[in-house]
Amino acid sequence: MSLKLHLNLLEYLRKSREDLAAEARGEGDTLAKHRRALAAYVDQHGHSIIGVFEEVVSGERIVDRPEMQKMLHALNEGKYNGKKIDGVICIDEYRLGRGNMIDQGIIQDTFKTNKMILVTPRKVYDPESELDEEWFEFESFMARREFKMINRRLQRGRRQSAAEGKCVGKLPYGYIKGKDLVLRPHPEESRIVKIIFDWAVEGMGRKVIANKLTDLGVPTPSGKIDVWQQTTIKKILANRVYLGEVEFGKSKYSKKDLGGYHVEKVHDSSKWIRKENAHEPLISVELFDRAGDAVKRRIPPIKSGSPISNPFASLIKCGVCGYSLRRQIHKQNNADRLICSHYKCKNRSTNFILVEDRLIRTLQKFLSGFELELGQNQVKIQPTKELLNARIVTLEKQEIDLKKQSDNIHDLLEQGVYTVEKFLERTTDLQVKANKVKEELESCRKDVERMIEMDYHKKEALPRLINVLNTYHTLSPEDRNKLLKTIVQKMVYFRAEGTRLDEFSLEVFLDV
Ligand SMILES: [Zn+2]
Repeated sequence: MSLKLHLNLLEYLRKSREDLAAEARGEGDTLAKHRRALAAYVDQHGHSIIGVFEEVVSGERIVDRPEMQKMLHALNEGKYNGKKIDGVICIDEYRLGRGNMIDQGIIQDTFKTNKMILVTPRKVYDPESELDEEWFEFESFMARREFKMINRRLQRGRRQSAAEGKCVGKLPYGYIKGKDLVLRPHPEESRIVKIIFDWAVEGMGRKVIANKLTDLGVPTPSGKIDVWQQTTIKKILANRVYLGEVEFGKSKYSKKDLGGYHVEKVHDSSKWIRKENAHEPLISVELFDRAGDAVKRRIPPIKSGSPISNPFASLIKCGVCGYSLRRQIHKQNNADRLICSHYKCKNRSTNFILVEDRLIRTLQKFLSGFELELGQNQVKIQPTKELLNARIVTLEKQEIDLKKQSDNIHDLLEQGVYTVEKFLERTTDLQVKANKVKEELESCRKDVERMIEMDYHKKEALPRLINVLNTYHTLSPEDRNKLLKTIVQKMVYFRAEGTRLDEFSLEVFLDV
C-alpha cells in the first residue's frame, strides 16, 4: 500500500494476560513500555497522537472496556478534540479485540465504515484495501484461537500437576510449598492442625475451638484478623489435604458478565482429580474420621421461638471479626445497644437507634445516587447498543444477499452454466458463510437483550428502595427485617475505641 504521512492517530493501550504475568515476574510496567515504543514510532514516521485511550480494566469484551467504547464513539464521530481522526495506533492488532465474533465485527465495521487506518509498528492496515482487511480478520482470529489454546493448555497443565500430587491451588493452612509444588508440613501450623483435630475428637464444637485458639493468641490462617472463625475450623476438619491427598477441580470458575468470578461446585466426582500419598499427612485416617463423626454428632443450637427483635438480624456483620451483631435490649427506652456477638471482639458497641438512623440516611443517599446513575447509564450504554444494532442491520443485509446468491446458483445450474461440481462447491461455500452470519447475528441479538436486562434490574430495584424508605418506620422489628432483606444484602459495622457513640462506620451493600 502507499505510504501515508502525517496521520492524526488515537492511541489505544491495553494489557494482555501475558503482560500481567510478565509484570508479576518483575518485567516492569507494560503500558509504559508500549507508550514509549509508539511515541518513537510516531516520531519517526511524522504522525501525531491526538488522543490516548488507556484501558485500566482487562476485560475482553467491549462491554467491559469503557475506553474502547469511548474510542469507537470518537471514530464514528471522525473527530477528537476538534481534530480530524485518520486512524488508531496500538502495539499489535489483537489489543483491539480478543473478544467474541460480535466484538470483532463491531470493531472492524467501525474502522471500515469510517475509513480509519490501523497502525501497528509491524504493519499498517488500511480498510480501503481489501487484502489488508483479510489480514486483520485472519490475525485477530488467530489471536483469539491462540488465546483459547493458551487457556486450555494452562488448565491442562494444572490438572496434570495435580494428578502428579502437586499443589496447584491455594496453599492449605499447616503446609509450606517447595519449588517442586509438593507440600511439606509447616513447623508451627502443622502442630495447630493436629491440636484442632484432637480437640474436635474430645467433643469441642467448632466455635469453642475457634475461641480457644483466639484466646491463646494463635495467628489465624489469613493473618488479616486475629480472631479465629468457626468456618475456618469447619473447613480444616473437612480438608483431605491433611491425609496426604491432593484434590483438584472440585470448583469451577467462570467469568461474570459484569466482572468478577462465579464459583460453581463440580458435583460430578469423576471430573475431580484426587491423588493419595501426595505429601506427608498431618492426620491419620482414624483421627480424621473420628473428628468428622464428633462434629456431626453435635446438635446445632436450638432457635428460640421468640419473634425477631433485631431488624438487622442476619444482615449486619462486625467489621473486626465478621461475627453477627446482636441487639441488646435495655429497659430504658431507646438505650438498646448493638454489639458484636464475639465475646473477645474489640469492636465497640453503640446505640441501636443511631445505626438505624444511619442506615435510613444511607438508603436515602443510595436512592438519589441511583436515580442519577440510571440517567447517566443510559448515556454510557447507548454507544455500544447503537454499534450492536448497526451490526445487526449489516448482518441482516448479508443474510438476504447470501440467500439471493444461493437462489442464483440454482438458476445457473438449471441453465447449464454451472456443472454439478461447480454448483456443489459454490453451495458449500455459501453455506459456510451463511452459518457464520447466522451465528454472529444470534449473539448480537443476545448482547442487545442482555444490555436491556441490565438496565431493567436497576430500574426494578428502585421501587423496592422507595418502598423501604416509605414504610420502614411503621413496621414491627420482624417486618422491618423482612423489608430490609428485599433491598439490603449486608451491612458492616465498625467503631474504634475511644470514639463517640455516633462516630462509627456503616457500610451498606445493596442487593441489586
Ligand atoms: Zn466482632
